[in-house]
Amino acid sequence: MLFSKMFIPTMKEVPKEAEVVSHKLMLRAGYIRRLASGIYTWLPMGLKSLRKVEQIIREEMNKKSAQEILMPVVQPKELWVESKRWEKYGKELLRFVDRNDRELCLAPTHEEVVTDLVRREVKSYKELPLNLYQIQTKFRDEIRPRFGVMRGREFSMKDAYSFDMDEAGAERSYMDMYDAYVNIFKRCGLRFKPVEADTGQIGGSFSHEFMVLADTGEDTIISCDTCGYAANLEKAEAGFVGREKRVRNGNYMRVETPGQRKVEEVASFLQVMPDKLLKTMIYRTDKGVIGVLVKGDREINETKLVNLLSLDYLELADAYTIEEVTGGPLGFSGPIGLKIPLYADSDVQSMEDFVIGGNEEDVHVVDVNVDDFKVEGFYALKVVKDGDLCPKCKGTLLSTRGIEVGHIFKLGLKYSEAMNATFLDKDGKERHMVMGCYGIGVGRTVAAAIEQGYDENGIVLPIAIAPFEVNVLPVNNSHAESMELADNVYKALMNKNIDVVMDDRDERPGVKFKDCDLIGIPLRVTIGERNLKEGYVELKVRNEKESQKIKKEDIIGRVVSYVEESKSV
Ligand code: ATP
Ligand code: MG
Repeated sequence: MLFSKMFIPTMKEVPKEAEVVSHKLMLRAGYIRRLASGIYTWLPMGLKSLRKVEQIIREEMNKKSAQEILMPVVQPKELWVESKRWEKYGKELLRFVDRNDRELCLAPTHEEVVTDLVRREVKSYKELPLNLYQIQTKFRDEIRPRFGVMRGREFSMKDAYSFDMDEAGAERSYMDMYDAYVNIFKRCGLRFKPVEADTGQIGGSFSHEFMVLADTGEDTIISCDTCGYAANLEKAEAGFVGREKRVRNGNYMRVETPGQRKVEEVASFLQVMPDKLLKTMIYRTDKGVIGVLVKGDREINETKLVNLLSLDYLELADAYTIEEVTGGPLGFSGPIGLKIPLYADSDVQSMEDFVIGGNEEDVHVVDVNVDDFKVEGFYALKVVKDGDLCPKCKGTLLSTRGIEVGHIFKLGLKYSEAMNATFLDKDGKERHMVMGCYGIGVGRTVAAAIEQGYDENGIVLPIAIAPFEVNVLPVNNSHAESMELADNVYKALMNKNIDVVMDDRDERPGVKFKDCDLIGIPLRVTIGERNLKEGYVELKVRNEKESQKIKKEDIIGRVVSYVEESKSV
C-alpha cells in the first residue's frame, strides 16, 4: 500500500467525547469514527487490525475442528419465546416489527438460532460432537455505551457453540476452547489472564473470562500472589482461618446509640473498629424474606447469595419490610430474636464480643457472640478484597483491573431442554445435547490491545495485529536515490508477504514520523540521504528508544526475520 492513497484521517486534538486512552487514540489515529451512541464505522487502519484479530481467531478455532458459519442478525421473536428470553433479556434486546406485523429482534447473541439449526439438522450421536462458530455483528442496547468500541451497542463478536452427547464430551469441548483462547490471545501479543467466572446455577468450574490486564479495565480480577488461583470479583472466594469454637454466650448488653445507623457511625460512637460490628442485611427474595450477616467492614456478594439459595429474585428490603420482620427501623437490625432464616458469612464464625443492631430505634447490642443466635449456616458470602487469604493455598489475594475480551461457558442442557434439541444415542434412546458457548469481543480486543500498548506518541500494537507490519519511509521525496531504494525495499518486502506500507507522501519527515508512531506501525525503515551515502538505512522498532543502522542490502532479511520472530509465539 502507498500511504498517499490511503484513507487515514488522523486528528491532532484529543476528542472531547473520549475518556480512555484506546478510544482517544483510535479516533486520533483514524481507526474508527462515531456514527451514533455506541455505533462506529471502522476505517481502513482499524479494520486492518480488526481483520488480523479475526484471522488469528479463525485459525485457532479451525485447529480445534470448529466450523465457521454465518447466522442472521435479524431474528424472529418465536425462538426467543421458546427459550424464555424474550421476556428475560430486558431492554438490551432491541425489538421491532416488520411490515407484516411480525415481531423481530436484533441479535445480541445466537444460542436460540444455533440451537434451532442443530435440532433440525442433527439427529444421531454419529454427528456429534459439533462446534459451530461465526464472526458477526451483534446488537445490544447497552445502558451505558462508552469507551468507543470497547462497550459499543453494535459490535463484532466471535461466538461459538458446542454440542456434545454427554457431560464428558462437553467438558472436552470446553477445554478445547480454553486452549484455543489461550493461543488466540497469546498470538495477539496480549498480556492476559483466564479467570474463573460465575456459572450461576449450572455450578462447577466451567466458566472462564479472559481478561486483558489493564488499569483502565472495567472488571476487577482477584488473583493469588502464590498459586495460580484467579477469579473475577463475583466468583472470587477467600480462604478462611478456622477458629476453635468457644462457648461464650448470654453476656450481651443493650446500649443506647441515638441516631447512629451506619456502621461507621455506630463504630465511632461506641469507639470500636468497624470490624467489631456485625451487619444484618434484610433481603426480599422469591423464597421469602431472609437476613444475611457479614462483618461490618465487608460487603455481601449477591451473586453468591443467589447461587447458594437458587434464587430467581433478590432485592434489599425496604424500610417497611424491615420494620415488619425486625420490629425496628432501618439501620438497627440484628440477629437476636429474628424469626427469618439467617445466612452468615464464614468470617462471622471467628468474631467475638461484637456489636449488632437491637431491632429497636436507637439501640444496639454489645458483647454478642455467635451462639447468642441461630443461623442456617456459614457460607462464603462476602465480596473478596485485597489482602484476603487465598482459598487454594496460604497466599494472599490481590486485586487488579482487567478488560474482559473473551468468555467461555458450559451451558449444559439449558437451551437444548428449553428448545428440545435432541439426538438418538447408540441405543436408539433420545437424549438432550449438552451445550457450551464461547465468545470473543473482536473490536474490544483491538481496543484492549491499545489500552496495553501506547505511549505519548500514539499506539504501540503488537506486530501480529497492527494495521501494517512495516513502514518504509523515504525522508526526502526529491532525493531520487532514496526514492528508488525505498521503492525496491517496499516491493521486496511485499514479495516476502510482509504487510508493508510506503510513506510516499511529499511531506516533511516530522509529519511522516509522527503519523507512523500515532498509527502504531511496529517497524519503520527510514531511508535518508546521509545514511545512504555510507550504504545504510535506519531500522526503528516502535517500542524501542534507539534506532539501528543496517546495511541496505541486509534490511529485507532483518525485517523479515523480525516479523516472523515476533509472530511466532
Ligand atoms: P460484559 O460483562 O462486558 O457486558 P458480557 O458478559 O455481556 O460482557 P458476553 O455475552 O459473554 O459478554 O459476550 C462475549 C464477549 O463479547 C465479551 O467477552 C466481550 O469481549 C464482548 N462484548 C460484550 N458486550 C460488548 C459490548 N457492548 N461491546 C463490545 N464488546 C462486547
Ligand atoms: Mg453485557
